[in-house]
Amino acid sequence: MTETRQIVLAARPEGEPGPEHFRLETATLPALAEGQFRVRLIWMSLDPYMRGRMSAAKSYVPPIAVGAPMQAGAVAEVAESRHPGFVAGDVVFGYFPWAEQAVTDGAGVTKVDPKAAPLSAWLGVLGMPGFTGWIGLNRVARGKAGETIVVSAATGAVGSMVCQLAKARGMRVIGVAGGAAKCARAVLDYGADACLDHRGAPDARALSKAIAEQAPDGVDVYFENVGGKTLEAVLPRMNDHGRIALCGAIAWYSGAESPPPLPPVWQTILVKRLTVQGFIVTDHQAHYPEFLAEVLPMVGAGRIRWAETVAEGLGSAPAAFLSLLRGGNDGKQLVRIGADPEAAA
Ligand code: NDP
Repeated sequence: MTETRQIVLAARPEGEPGPEHFRLETATLPALAEGQFRVRLIWMSLDPYMRGRMSAAKSYVPPIAVGAPMQAGAVAEVAESRHPGFVAGDVVFGYFPWAEQAVTDGAGVTKVDPKAAPLSAWLGVLGMPGFTGWIGLNRVARGKAGETIVVSAATGAVGSMVCQLAKARGMRVIGVAGGAAKCARAVLDYGADACLDHRGAPDARALSKAIAEQAPDGVDVYFENVGGKTLEAVLPRMNDHGRIALCGAIAWYSGAESPPPLPPVWQTILVKRLTVQGFIVTDHQAHYPEFLAEVLPMVGAGRIRWAETVAEGLGSAPAAFLSLLRGGNDGKQLVRIGADPEAAA
């Protein structure tokens, strides 16, 4: 019998979640059956979509049941195996409970090459968020050289990838981020031509004016990560036939910002003949090898940069998640659950 600590959903939040919605527990893992293996988590990813899984609303991933462990993408090491495809010591990526250890039958678990990149990169720049940015720019927004793109949450895990790929293909890149430090990073590290501080702007009108100054020929593509005030600011600046890649709307996940009235938004989409396309990265999984073939060499050559915010230990996960929802992260939000053998090597 192996014991593990895990974090469960204690209650469903109404509005902004708090520490009271999580509970740290000790659980006993079952003995391994044939075809199963046990993993020791090393790095765990915290992502905005997890807020949706805390609510009962129907979405593209089912809600977490109250009392059940929260789930996350994680890089882990196989500790013990009765599975023909995995041996102790293998490093893997999979979706596991927020826990120190877990038992799995290997469904959805893939091996990670520990020499190709730092292990944590498989949760960020080379993982789901990086791939989301690549898919959104290439297959949804279809950004082209010479066009102007606005990227919200520009220094986040998704946004920082979009900024760098868009810049590399010759687009004019205008980031929107929270605070002067993040804006400086968007320009200096991620190649944005300009970055506007949405938290410093008194209202959507002021932010919109600042966007107009940086986009004198209008905005062709909006990579939408946030909704809220930023969406209100960008919409009037869109060019006719512009495209919006609707990736996320974090400002509204907990109802902190009230949405603008629908009729003027709808009217703008009509009058400007905009294409608004929502997308979910998992629908595009078949393109992951193509993404990796392009981006892994760029990462190796230092042509793609990224930042990580690391919380230490499983117990810190709820606070780190709440901080992520409020913009407390700089780049990919991770939790270091256990020792990273590659970092020690
Ligand atoms: P980030 O690393 O960008 O972290 C979230 C950021 O959102 C915060 O750092 C903060 O940045 C910003 N934010 C929070 N509240 C607000 C607000 N009220 N207004 C404006 N910005 C806010 O997260 P990810 O890169 O992982 O995700 C970015 C977006 O992409 C999210 O909306 C997420 O749900 C979505 N997503 C969608 C996927 C899909 O398949 N469609 C897949 C992956 C992610 P700042 O300090 O700059 O304000």
